[in-house]
Amino acid sequence: MIDPFGRHISYLRVSVTDRCDFRCVYCMAEDMTFLPKAELLTLEEMDRLCSAFVQKGVRKLRLTGGEPLVRKNLMWLIQRLSRHLDSGALDELTLTTNGSQLGKYAKELAACGVKRVNVSIDTLDPDKFTAITRWGKLGPVLDGIKAANAAGIKVKINTVALKGVNDDEAFDLIDWCGREGHDLTFIEVMPMGDIGGEQRLDQYLPISLLRAKLKTRYTLEDIDYRTGGPARYARITETGQRVGFITPLTHNFCESCNRVRLTCTGMLYMCLGQDDSADLRAPLRASADDALLMDAIDEAIARKPKGHDFIIDRRHKGPAVQRHMSVTGG
Ligand code: SAM
Ligand code: SF4
Repeated sequence: MIDPFGRHISYLRVSVTDRCDFRCVYCMAEDMTFLPKAELLTLEEMDRLCSAFVQKGVRKLRLTGGEPLVRKNLMWLIQRLSRHLDSGALDELTLTTNGSQLGKYAKELAACGVKRVNVSIDTLDPDKFTAITRWGKLGPVLDGIKAANAAGIKVKINTVALKGVNDDEAFDLIDWCGREGHDLTFIEVMPMGDIGGEQRLDQYLPISLLRAKLKTRYTLEDIDYRTGGPARYARITETGQRVGFITPLTHNFCESCNRVRLTCTGMLYMCLGQDDSADLRAPLRASADDALLMDAIDEAIARKPKGHDFIIDRRHKGPAVQRHMSVTGG
């Protein structure tokens, strides 16, 4: 699949549910309304859709959400999708998770060929963790990470940089990741979905400021390492660690975008930061063969926009797109 700007689309991210067992302050409002369960694609339909994308050349699949591991019977889908790893059609099957259920599923995930997962942790302070996630507890997440490592799954930590909340922990997070052997990526908060009040502006910490802070203790060397994603990496000379930075606001990375995103109702979003989408559920359900679906995918890829334009400042306090990150998956 090649889009109008010559970008090769080889990565599909699938939000398998919009629900979650946490309510992170930057991601969701406290009183979120979720989709009625009847609206969701069945797991069989998700398998069919993902497999159509694999047939079209997708080499990497990431299941996300909401919290993917709270979707009932998700292991069935992962087991099904693992056949594409076995056949060599897929290079990687992975997840982004809040880690709360990792302890329960780590072994099964490893058995299905999952080799790496991203786990989101914004703080190592248990009280702060509960304040940020509203409903979460740090202990089970750390146990889940240990279980994943014990099962042979490598963990990358994603940390959203939050002004006045975790900027004082950047060094602790780097030290902890260094000790535990996890890669670490810092992410700028993105203006997605209404989270109530004027919180976005309060939360937004430009990564450039975080980098400046890191430089007071460490030497950061920009390196060419790429994982096919938007992160740009630096090496900390003193420790040898690699740290990633995702800067959707301060530096636009759309020129190398290789991905599209599917929601749990079968809407395909060609850009995280734009509203245009394509309904793949209708062609999926219209016939048992995939011809209509394949045409709809081609038509959608031909509409992939050049990029997004996130802004957070005093004049732009509202969301750039109405949907929350949990709809399209982070
Ligand atoms: N529940 C899983 C988790 O937390 O990892 C997967 C879904 S979550 C939406 C995926 C990632 O998006 C997490 O790393 C989360 O921190 C990040 N995220 C959520 N809302 C965001 C926002 N408004 N700006 C930047 N990152 C956000
Ligand atoms: Fe749930 Fe992940 Fe959003 Fe937090 S960031 S509320 S864990 S979906």
